Amino acid sequence: MTWHARSIAELANALERRELSSVELTRHFLERIGALNGALNALITVTAERALAEAAVADRRRAAGERGPLLGIPLIHKDIFCTDGVRTSCGSRMLDNFVAPYDATVVARLKAAGAVMLGKANMDEFAMGSSNETSFYGPVHNPWDLDKVPGGSSGGSAAAVAARLAPFSTGTDTGGSIRQPAALSGITGIKPTYGRVSRYGMIAFASSLDQAGVFARSAADAAIALGAIAGFDPRDSTSVDVPVPDYAATLDGPLAGLRIGLVKEFSEALEPRNGALIAAALDVFRSLGAKTTTVSLPSLPLSVPTYYVVAPAECSSNLSRFDGVRFGYRCTDPKDLRDLYERSRGEGFGAEVKRRIMTGTYVLSAGYFDAYYLKAQKVRQLIAGEFGAAFQQVDLLIGPTTPTPAFGIGAKIDDPVTMYLNDIYTIGANLAGLPAISAPCGFVEGLPMGVQLIGPPFSEGRLLNAVHRYQLATDWHDRAAPGYA
Ligand code: GLN
Repeated sequence: MTWHARSIAELANALERRELSSVELTRHFLERIGALNGALNALITVTAERALAEAAVADRRRAAGERGPLLGIPLIHKDIFCTDGVRTSCGSRMLDNFVAPYDATVVARLKAAGAVMLGKANMDEFAMGSSNETSFYGPVHNPWDLDKVPGGSSGGSAAAVAARLAPFSTGTDTGGSIRQPAALSGITGIKPTYGRVSRYGMIAFASSLDQAGVFARSAADAAIALGAIAGFDPRDSTSVDVPVPDYAATLDGPLAGLRIGLVKEFSEALEPRNGALIAAALDVFRSLGAKTTTVSLPSLPLSVPTYYVVAPAECSSNLSRFDGVRFGYRCTDPKDLRDLYERSRGEGFGAEVKRRIMTGTYVLSAGYFDAYYLKAQKVRQLIAGEFGAAFQQVDLLIGPTTPTPAFGIGAKIDDPVTMYLNDIYTIGANLAGLPAISAPCGFVEGLPMGVQLIGPPFSEGRLLNAVHRYQLATDWHDRAAPGYA
């Protein structure tokens, strides 16, 4: 089997047995990126020289007797994570010239674990989008069909792993941006509990919703990667000081007696082919010993309108720091300070970001705060409460990740509301701060689809265990996009 088709554990074993070095492995992935990224546009920046240097360090660490599941394993970071000395663009013209002077905690932890950064992944501008079409660097193409989107906002991270340009990648999920592109690209993606992974050095979109996570081909690989980035960080005030379990150690546990609830509001009105895939996944879980039932969360259908008040409100505040003065894009020849602000922001931000800033500013304005922002916060509490009640009855919730498979590039970009509805199944977990995972569960029209599991706070181990057992019983996650095997 070719190296890029191996799991992280297999690659670590091969490195340990000296079947190849990290430098050779890194070179292999860099060659794949060189050959395939032109058609995919999954990476904004390729850090080849630096990757080979990091790989050489990993080889020396291993030669000195150090072990570690990620020592010498290549990865790609979403370009929302600050990387010391390497451009961090956040998919925006605004930060096209921005080189961070420090590493995000996620980046620093993976570096400490010996993982090798191949480059920075394309993404929707400031993580706002569901298709990776709002990027200043152009759309990412889905390896399953180059005319289709890979999902977003972490579209480059997802397409890169699906095309086997790296064994794993990082992403962020504010309303679905890990799970939705994982589903549309045929890979596994986990969004942890809010506070599980540090947001330090991760460029903020909507701070009360943003959470970092990982993409990999399997839950077993995702468990290794998540284990390296999870954990308390005093530099993030919302980071939670809860010990990180050994996710890899609990992967194999039996599912006998696990109570899984099908979300009634998710399963109603589901497109029949999508519904059949979720029903088939439920059959697999039952055959593994899980007990299934249906659970209702009546306020869940309000999650999209709630999110599109809360997220823009927070983004309008977070993005006010990009003013053309301190860092990032500055317009040429400003007349005065006001002109500098207006043109730097006007020219530096794309249309979707401007739409969100305007919506957010409006819902926070004195006359509308109570009617929109405060109301949305109340509905958010209602939704979180219904999830809490559901987890009194069941251990995990299940449903689809997306309403449809990957859609055509250009098909929805001019219709924001249709675009926003892509996240109908993923946003609830963000509003409630819950961990959730998407795994491949079959195909519709030849394109991959995902099944989503949502758990109570800090149940990442249980989610990974459930998906791992599912992946031992099925082979959807092993299918490669044609031409990328
Ligand atoms: N698609 C959603 C949005 O556009 C979610 C994005 C995200 O999770 N970063 O806001």
